[in-house]
Amino acid sequence: MEALVLFSGGLDSSTCLALAVKKHGAENVTALSVYYGQKHDKEIQASDRIAEYYGVAHRKLDLTTIFADSDCSLLKSSHDEIPKETYAQQLSGSDGKPVSTYVPFRNGLFLSSAASIGLSLGCKVIYYGAHSDDAAGNAYPDCSDKFNNAMNEAIFTGSGEQIKIEAPFVGMTKADVVRMGAELKVPFELTWSCYEGGDKPCGVCGTCRDRAAAFAANGLIDPLVKGE
Ligand SMILES: [Zn+2]
Repeated sequence: MEALVLFSGGLDSSTCLALAVKKHGAENVTALSVYYGQKHDKEIQASDRIAEYYGVAHRKLDLTTIFADSDCSLLKSSHDEIPKETYAQQLSGSDGKPVSTYVPFRNGLFLSSAASIGLSLGCKVIYYGAHSDDAAGNAYPDCSDKFNNAMNEAIFTGSGEQIKIEAPFVGMTKADVVRMGAELKVPFELTWSCYEGGDKPCGVCGTCRDRAAAFAANGLIDPLVKGE
């Protein structure tokens, strides 16, 4: 095994998985999906379909208990509603705090967990799909270039220089990720991004808005909302 991919079943991590498979071959890639107490399991279902599509090994990890005290609006344990504005709107007047859908230090925890698992599997690299739109305005500080560099240094040093992080989209926008995903023929129709767990994407949560704008910027139609 060469590469471990943090894999939510969303658009960004699916494109990341496609990149890793292209570079390392499906037989050398393991996808790692983490359950953290989300209000729905649509992403996990999507991750099953996409891992099967690419023919990669698929591991799952349940870290729900770590977030038991969090009031993050994505979590089952929270009664807060998921905001229906864009990230930029949510951030205006937030005094520099992350958005309410920020899960406390999620990527730090996931990358650390991935480092432990990856080392045991003999992987040399951990991929994750953070991009600059999510880091913009400090919406998700654990998607920033600065965070990524710090984590990479910590993991590389702490692993005895055995494993490193690849964040191929950290300097790219979500529109760039969609363009790359389209080039790689990622099965976007199998992915799930929406924070709500409906039959169709809600269209109004922060990630639905971001996803729609990224497809529109490329002159593409999202297959999940085709015909609407
Ligand atoms: Zn949505």
